[in-house]
Amino acid sequence: MRLQNKVAIITGAASGIGNAIAKKYAAEGAKVVIADLDSDHAELAAKSLREEGHEAMSVVMDVTNEDQVNKGVEKVVAAYDKVDVLVSNAGIQVISPVESLPLADWKRMLAIHLDGAFLTTRACLKYMYKQNSGSIIYMGSVHSKEASLLKAPYVTAKHGLIGLCKVVAKEGIKHNVRANVICPGFVRTPLVDKQIPEQAKDLGISEDDVVKKIMLKDTIDGEFTTAEDVAEIALLFASFDSNALTGQSLLVSHGWFMQ
Ligand code: NAD
Repeated sequence: MRLQNKVAIITGAASGIGNAIAKKYAAEGAKVVIADLDSDHAELAAKSLREEGHEAMSVVMDVTNEDQVNKGVEKVVAAYDKVDVLVSNAGIQVISPVESLPLADWKRMLAIHLDGAFLTTRACLKYMYKQNSGSIIYMGSVHSKEASLLKAPYVTAKHGLIGLCKVVAKEGIKHNVRANVICPGFVRTPLVDKQIPEQAKDLGISEDDVVKKIMLKDTIDGEFTTAEDVAEIALLFASFDSNALTGQSLLVSHGWFMQ
């Protein structure tokens, strides 16, 4: 078991990729915290892990709310004594060309992806620095390195996470805290299922064409990445045994955007 007795907070873990990471971490012995805005699904996810014999709790948290983030992390430390891993994963998508993108949508996107990453990082560093260890994992995207039509705030925020990660890696190293970014290609989660009809409408093409000609166009095998593929990388970053692996970003994308 690669995460035996480690405490891992995963934001946005009531659904999709975050939930797959929670399951993977629990199977590797971690005490898992499902931190999500959606209290019902967060508790359902934690309950289902407990029913399988794992230790898990849910914490209701809007990652853009400073007070909720700080109190949520305090609640975790009160229950489990420490925080070893943070996966800053909560995220949403907004599809719009720049010329008609409302300022409110731009701000909401940057708040969830960037304020959320900053606030959860800061709240966890307080404890990681004291215990002199920790691993912070940001959920980036191929869009941390590449652009697509209609996704300006998402692409901007996901690029920004790489900058935050590099600074956290540099500042954290003297406390044995590592920071890395996972950059997945398209994964069939509610976030992606929602944008297929939206993009089809905005671009005037069929949903099938959105999948084949846009989402999977630059993969080398026409395949979706899976949430389990992403969870495997999240396990690698969480369990890596030395400070050699920090400040990095890793694509898991069926060859879409090779470096
Ligand atoms: P999802 O919609 O399945 O899950 C997102 C979760 O985040 C939900 O449980 C939602 O309640 C939660 N959430 C949203 N806003 C929140 C907030 N303010 N505070 C706390 N929780 C909040 O989405 P997903 O596809 O699993 O996406 C997870 C992450 O992976 C996102 O950061 C996304 O950008 C990233 N990502 C997704 C894909 C993909 O193709 N699905 C690809 C690359 C990166």
